[in-house]
Amino acid sequence: MIKCSSCGKDLAENEALIHKNSFGNKDIICKDCFKSITGIDYETFVYRRESAKQTFFAVLFCLAATLYAAATRGIEWGAIGIVLTIAVYLFASKAR
Ligand SMILES: [Zn+2]
Repeated sequence: MIKCSSCGKDLAENEALIHKNSFGNKDIICKDCFKSITGIDYETFVYRRESAKQTFFAVLFCLAATLYAAATRGIEWGAIGIVLTIAVYLFASKAR
């Protein structure tokens, strides 16, 4: 049986969360303690992490397209690509 290292509650394996504390140690905690430690609930945390990942891949894709455009069509297209990449990044972080 896994126990929450913060409140001592018994946890099922799929409820246990790993949280790095301020000393860099990994604690096993429950969702309630996660919320009280981090200030956000676990679902919000997962949502933010996922959307950060999607933003990262969108920006990466734009950068690759920018490099491709600059290499095949010239530096002006690369400059347009950079502007579009920044626009995608701003839009994606705003949409969060
Ligand atoms: Zn707990």
